[in-house]
Amino acid sequence: MTQVQSLAGKTALITGSTSGIGLAYAKTLAEAGANVVINGFGDKDAIEQERQGLEAASGAKAIYLGHDLTKVEEIEAMMNEAASVFGGVDILINNAGMQHVAPVEEFPLDKWNLIIALNLNSAFHTTRLAVPYMKGKKWGRIIQTASAHSLIASPFKSAYVTAKHGIAGFTKTIALELATFGVTANCISPGYVWTPLVEKQIPDTMKARNMTREQVMNDVLLAGQPTKQFVTVEQVAAVALFLCGDAAANITGSNISVDGGWTAQ
Ligand code: NAD
Repeated sequence: MTQVQSLAGKTALITGSTSGIGLAYAKTLAEAGANVVINGFGDKDAIEQERQGLEAASGAKAIYLGHDLTKVEEIEAMMNEAASVFGGVDILINNAGMQHVAPVEEFPLDKWNLIIALNLNSAFHTTRLAVPYMKGKKWGRIIQTASAHSLIASPFKSAYVTAKHGIAGFTKTIALELATFGVTANCISPGYVWTPLVEKQIPDTMKARNMTREQVMNDVLLAGQPTKQFVTVEQVAAVALFLCGDAAANITGSNISVDGGWTAQ
């Protein structure tokens, strides 16, 4: 059996890693010995506690850069700061994301623009800024948290589904561009994972579909997931860790579903 290899000496930058799936990536990669850069919003003390926990787990360095990734100049500042501390980023995980649920004719313009900026455009900016270092090192891993919604659609999530289909196409494109440089690019596409992002969309979905909380949980969220279980953040992070290893050096341009069979239907 393939052993999980050490990521000591590598630096992983994970966007949106103060919570949910991103935090699980940070913990898993830190446990494998990587330096980690965490990003996202939240309570300063809680984030500092997580940062210290990551350093304790990795024996390496963990820093927090709380830049707002809906703004290009902030993304540039974050990538420059990460490079000034670590020289560059070996593993880039584009994970920050948000959701808004509304019928298309009522979809607020500001929400559309924010979701496209965060869930899609930010991945282009971090990638274009990370790639020169990876090419120079002849090694790199770019991982996107896409979604089952990068493969199929659901009503009332037009911006999210658009962004996630976009990131799937972007990933295939950069996989081809980077194929001879030892740099792989892949999507991980979870179904419903129990995180704050999912919890927060329950009230809007109740409103949009005129349903109770229980109906949303069972008839919307888990309805399409044949296992009838939420995916765990640890299960998603384990796939990312595998993609970072040598055993995954020829997995590139792929879109790996972790969705309890949702998109198999
Ligand atoms: P979450 O809400 O727990 O985490 C989102 C993270 O993004 C947080 O750290 C938050 O602070 C950060 N963030 C939000 N706005 C930001 C901004 N402007 N700049 C920087 N960071 C920002 O959500 P999650 O469920 O862990 O989602 C993570 C990713 O997984 C998202 O891309 C989401 O689309 C994707 N995903 C989630 C599910 C699910 O069921 N939870 C399923 C498929 C895909």
